[in-house]
Amino acid sequence: MSNEKSSDLERQLESMLEIEKFEPPVSFREQALWSDPEVYEQAAADPEAWWLGQARELLDWDTEPSQALDDSNPPFYKWFADGRLNASANCLDRHVEAGRGERVAYHWRGEEGEQRDITYAELHAEVQRFANALKDLGVEKGDVVGIYLPMIPEVAVSMLACARIGAIHNVVFGGFSAESVRERMEFSEAKALVTVDGARRKGKTAPIKPAVDEQMDELASLETIVVVRHTGIDCPMREGRDVFYDEVVDAAEPECPAEPMEAEHPLFILYTSGSTAKPKGILHTTGGYMTGVTATHRYVFDLKPESDVYWCAADVGWVTGHSYIVYGPLANGATSVMWEGAPDHPHQGIWWELIQDYKATILYAAPTAIRTFIKWGAEIPEKFDLSSLRLLGTVGEPINPKAWLWYHEVIGGERCPIVDTWWQTETGAIMITPLPGITATKPGSATTPFPGVQASVVGESDGQPIETGQGLLVLERPWPSMLRGLYKEDDRFIETYFSRFGTERYLVGDAARVDADGYLWVIGRIDDVVNVSGHRLSTAEVESAIVAHEKVAEAAVIGQSDEDTGQAICAFVTLRGGTEHSDELVEDIRAVVGERIGKFARPKRIIWSDDLPKTRSGKIMRRLLRDIAEGRALGDVTTLRDPEVMAELESKIAEEADKES
Ligand code: ATP
Ligand code: MG
Repeated sequence: MSNEKSSDLERQLESMLEIEKFEPPVSFREQALWSDPEVYEQAAADPEAWWLGQARELLDWDTEPSQALDDSNPPFYKWFADGRLNASANCLDRHVEAGRGERVAYHWRGEEGEQRDITYAELHAEVQRFANALKDLGVEKGDVVGIYLPMIPEVAVSMLACARIGAIHNVVFGGFSAESVRERMEFSEAKALVTVDGARRKGKTAPIKPAVDEQMDELASLETIVVVRHTGIDCPMREGRDVFYDEVVDAAEPECPAEPMEAEHPLFILYTSGSTAKPKGILHTTGGYMTGVTATHRYVFDLKPESDVYWCAADVGWVTGHSYIVYGPLANGATSVMWEGAPDHPHQGIWWELIQDYKATILYAAPTAIRTFIKWGAEIPEKFDLSSLRLLGTVGEPINPKAWLWYHEVIGGERCPIVDTWWQTETGAIMITPLPGITATKPGSATTPFPGVQASVVGESDGQPIETGQGLLVLERPWPSMLRGLYKEDDRFIETYFSRFGTERYLVGDAARVDADGYLWVIGRIDDVVNVSGHRLSTAEVESAIVAHEKVAEAAVIGQSDEDTGQAICAFVTLRGGTEHSDELVEDIRAVVGERIGKFARPKRIIWSDDLPKTRSGKIMRRLLRDIAEGRALGDVTTLRDPEVMAELESKIAEEADKES
């Protein structure tokens, strides 16, 4: 692309995206833990020393680390390697010992409205018993324990009990099929699995244990299945292998001292969501991970553990749940809300009812949820008192400016800063984010790296940093909570992250833009960049323009091979409830995109779709849309939430092809 064209495009994108800057409200800044931008300079002056300081200050160590980074064998980096600590002791014992045992760790709310407040002291007691029970069942340090549970307190207990004895947990999101669980257990050679009799979803109960049995019978490594009695439905048990959670916990000794672990002892394995390829088994270790999540949870959410009620509305089965429901909040002594159910059961205002009831002050949610709430209408949250909220966060996908503004106005009452946090399963903790008492935000931008983290946007072919413009996102130096590898796939680890630009730089796999203020705009996966007549466009930007049309609820854009332009834009569009599609609307939407970005960005095809293919964590799977648009066989679909969506789209495309021929 010629320079002239490129700067022209830059200007158009700037004007489209830079709607307004939102400064932190003065009252927020005055109370914030961090309000002085100097923290960025302090960290940048010597990132390793700065992280070592965070590690020592925020965590309790049995042996303090003397060194931060060990980079003697890149890209297999180590952090705080001569330190020893226990993650569960950092989440529990130190709070109880300091007299904070009566503080609520989780306000748990069940699907049917049941309420349980679990204090730090109670959690501490239960974790010790279950840790002893696991030991009694033969689980030892270094063994892998699968966890396949719904959003119930036992999921946190199980994770912490593993951490206490040095077992490595491998949590599988409760929405996955038993078959996916088996694959993950088989691959990680899990010795035990903690699961549940049945799961509840929107008023219905589904048996889980029988489905698990069907899959696990062949699994030689699996010696024990622990079953939490949650729904009370009938549950077959195999003699010699299966035990009930409550029975083994009751029989176990009450005290289980936390065993100090080497900082690099594995804490967990977790599979990515599979938006782009076959899921990867990400390995995290103890000291660096705990440092990263504790620091980011405290400073990104400006957490005041004595007064805040924090709610991360993710599922524990994703990294967001690991880092920001379990390890980060507990290490900081926070009080959290934990909700078992769906956002529309028993009614579409349940989230807002929970915020009202618990006077939640911080909400951390995904753009996919926000888009859903927009579809349902602002009248619903408006019926509830959300005045306790003081900070909002998002994670998981780029957030369209329209959704950001809605979140800001309707949920945040225009008074709450929004932290749009960019990170990955691989990064363990938040990497690019505003600091709510410091950073002026721009809707749609995750802004700048967290102190001690260095990110760049680099040219695709030469890897040279780009000052302003679009390219590939990379992280420039190792950071404490980085993945230590892909479980049993060293080659894939190097190939995926450290082959393109060497072992010193981590290739993220996302494309990003950097603007004149140095703000980063993560615009999607590398594959989500479309090239129309030499113009490189990000799907996220075209989607944001389409969604800006008042009748549109959601859109997914892909590039489709095109004889004239190389690639042409094809948009899958979901309309707001009650809207009829028409040829006129097609022209309207094309006009909106033409106005906002430029004529070349107008979609060549618009395909109406009532729903889009999403991963089970709610992300749009553009690679499957590309597959059907190009008439290819579908790639890995195991993490697809609703397979019927694909069947419907395929028949729609076939219909259209018939019409065209
Ligand atoms: P897979 O790697 O298997 O394809 P995945 O990348 O969806 O799955 P995660 O690790 O859960 O699995 O998601 C991380 C990705 O989510 C990031 O690489 C990025 O593409 C996207 N993402 C997360 N947060 C943000 C954000 N705030 N803004 C833009 N994109 C985000
Ligand atoms: Mg990924």
